[in-house]
Amino acid sequence: MEKTLVLIKPDAFGRNHAGAILKIYEDAGFKILAAKVMMMTESVAAKHYVEHIGRSYYPALVEFMTSAPIMAVVLTGDDVIKKVRELNGATNPTEAAEGTIRKLYAQDKTKNAVHASDSSASAAREIPIFFSECEIF
Ligand code: ADP
Ligand code: MG
Repeated sequence: MEKTLVLIKPDAFGRNHAGAILKIYEDAGFKILAAKVMMMTESVAAKHYVEHIGRSYYPALVEFMTSAPIMAVVLTGDDVIKKVRELNGATNPTEAAEGTIRKLYAQDKTKNAVHASDSSASAAREIPIFFSECEIF
């Protein structure tokens, strides 16, 4: 079954929105295979966001992602990669559709509440950054 990596970012986790966000995924029929609360270090951020190194927003992104705890989650279900990105909404919350997680909980383009893998290749690359084999149910 397809899997995706979700990160509940420091803004949403710190404002106690983790439960509401997980409920949106569960209500959509997805199963939680793994979950943990953790601090993202700079080296984990550089691995996870490798394709963004050098972009103008990268320093602010790393500063934000390492500033406070995040929740890392692996979800599974039918078409989970595409559907979770739809539930999350557009990267920029001002462009996110009504009812999406980013419309509900994001603050700006950087502090945008959630991450989700954008392809099966990304999911396969990202999940092992956060979870070992024995941590995924
Ligand atoms: P997504 O998270 O929707 O897949 P990207 O992969 O393009 O978006 O970017 C990764 C993260 O980098 C975004 O979620 C956001 O936190 C940050 N980011 C991307 N583009 C910008 C930008 N133009 N200004 C500020 N932050 C950005
Ligand atoms: Mg992305």
